[in-house]
Amino acid sequence: MKAEILCVGTEILLGDILNTNTQFLSKELANMGFSIYHQAVVGDNVERLKNEFKLAIERADIVITTGGLGPTKDDLTKETAAEYFGKKLIFDEDSYTSIVEYFDKLGVKISENNKKQAYFPEGCTILKNDYGTAPGCIINEDNKIVILLPGPPREVLPMFKNYVVPYLKKYQEAVFVSKVLRVVGIGEGNAAEKLQDIMDRQTNPTIAPYAKDNEVTFRITASAKTEKEALDLIEPMEKEVRERLGDNVYGTDDTSLEEVVGKLLIENNITIATAESCTGGLLAGRLVNYPGISEVFMQGAVTYSNDAKIERLGVKKETLDKFGAVSSETAAEMAEGIAKTSNTNIGVSTTGIAGPGGGTEEKPVGLVYVGLYINGKVKTKKLNIPGDRQKVRNRVVTIALDWIRRETMRSNNASSH
Ligand code: ATP
Repeated sequence: MKAEILCVGTEILLGDILNTNTQFLSKELANMGFSIYHQAVVGDNVERLKNEFKLAIERADIVITTGGLGPTKDDLTKETAAEYFGKKLIFDEDSYTSIVEYFDKLGVKISENNKKQAYFPEGCTILKNDYGTAPGCIINEDNKIVILLPGPPREVLPMFKNYVVPYLKKYQEAVFVSKVLRVVGIGEGNAAEKLQDIMDRQTNPTIAPYAKDNEVTFRITASAKTEKEALDLIEPMEKEVRERLGDNVYGTDDTSLEEVVGKLLIENNITIATAESCTGGLLAGRLVNYPGISEVFMQGAVTYSNDAKIERLGVKKETLDKFGAVSSETAAEMAEGIAKTSNTNIGVSTTGIAGPGGGTEEKPVGLVYVGLYINGKVKTKKLNIPGDRQKVRNRVVTIALDWIRRETMRSNNASSH
């Protein structure tokens, strides 16, 4: 079945807000196996809304709209849908009671306009709004399913998951199950090359690469009659991909790199501290994203100036004079310095030129050194990262986290042999 999404709201059209509803709904519908051929946005204008609505219904079997269910006169989605199907709008007492209760809980006086939100096209299925005032509804007429949802994402998401998904289940011809393999430390091109023959012969499951935030993900999707059958189809392909990409696969689905690193450190009882120059606390911030990290993360120092590197970390003045702040030698002393002064097993440092200014021929923008002190030894990595300031800084952090992950796994393996 073909599904189409139509978002209503002038603020989306003008770019004032990001159309996250479309992203969410497209992903969910595609995962359920519906084909998405069109998405549209229309402002709060009756004629254009009518036209877009008609177009969408003529093209698709399922049309989902978001927005325009509010109490004001320019909220016209329900009215437009009702008119299209030649339906009257009927007052629904239960919905009105829920709206009144919602306002009571907030301690806000309900306005007369809110009554409009309790009117629905005759014969439709009403969708309760557990997180706002505007209920949604489903009109199922003439082999078309029209689903009207409110605008705010925090209302759309639960309404879709709790009420729309169960409703649409009976129209699904197959179950679609996806597994995402998260890959780091290897570019999209290289990773895809290693998997080329698998990608060439894919049918069911399919495999799709996607590069984002210095990582690559491979989504393996299978369709089958049951979830179990789909998972069984995914398993051999996952195994093959993992064999080819090895340690580069760090996790699955929504697992983040910092979560993997955090868990590894905690499981192995390895403490860590960070000394950052060019990343200015981003590395510490990523580590702290993982709840529970306090067990192993002792401190993070942002040592931007040479003085700070000397005073806080014990970097030698001669090192800075001779090799400069952006050098392997300085990165090494920073990593060792933070580990020793924080009394941790690991010390990680970053120092580099994030740009846009400050580069020289010898030390160009994007030159970064990462230092890692572990098991009493210090190592450094020299990086040349293209891109703007934010890209450089984010990439350094991902590389540093990945390095911690690999070294922790290695020392863990070594100690268990
Ligand atoms: P309600 O009356 O429950 O607020 P509504 O159906 O009238 O809902 P709108 O007035 O169209 O919804 O939108 C309300 C808010 O929801 C917008 O101001 C915007 O912040 C957010 N919103 C609307 N559509 C989208 C969208 N497609 N993506 C992300 N946010 C959206």
